[in-house]
Amino acid sequence: MNINNRFMGSMLAVVAVAAGLLFATPSHADAKVVTDADATSAVTKTQVQNGTAKADGGEATGSAKLTPATKRWQSATITYKISSKSGYYKTVWQSAVKSWNKSGVVKLVATSGKADITLADKNSTMKNATVGITYSSYYNDKTMNNLKVMANAKSYVFKNVANRYHYSKSERTNVAEHELGHALGLEHNVGKGSVMYYATRDQSVSKPDVNGLVASYR
Ligand SMILES: [Zn+2]
Repeated sequence: MNINNRFMGSMLAVVAVAAGLLFATPSHADAKVVTDADATSAVTKTQVQNGTAKADGGEATGSAKLTPATKRWQSATITYKISSKSGYYKTVWQSAVKSWNKSGVVKLVATSGKADITLADKNSTMKNATVGITYSSYYNDKTMNNLKVMANAKSYVFKNVANRYHYSKSERTNVAEHELGHALGLEHNVGKGSVMYYATRDQSVSKPDVNGLVASYR
């Protein structure tokens, strides 16, 4: 079985899951909440090292030195809840939270109540090489620093895809960091030196990503 060839096929069909669901929340009766999704492609190590992977269309813009954003939370203090049942994925998400908190820009705080961000693992039912996904919702009547204000976000690492591509625990943590980056409002970075590169595997949160957060939450 040639996993690289299979991967190349699915690469071409890349991952633009965009949903335009509109629904009203009870607490904001007149505000509309819009939901969309950002997916991360699984990538083999070889492809990252060979530099053959290309960013998926449209989303990665600007300079590799500054991870772009389209959304942010109202406050830089943001609550999260890890709903993974397995101890393994609990520590994956805890490490990801720690990495973003280390930036000193946002403060992710665990809650047992209703969280802004929910973090979980599950098996993907998609046929492509998507290894993580984040669904986020924002208010259509609020902006801060020209960014949409988020209402809630849910990030997943797809364990069956991570297994299929033989991701190590630290590589899964990088995927978790990437998804959590979307949950903080960041978009894809054109450069591989960013955890927000669309097919990150080896890279964790780095300077361009912290720069992006600073620009969003200033
Ligand atoms: Zn992504």
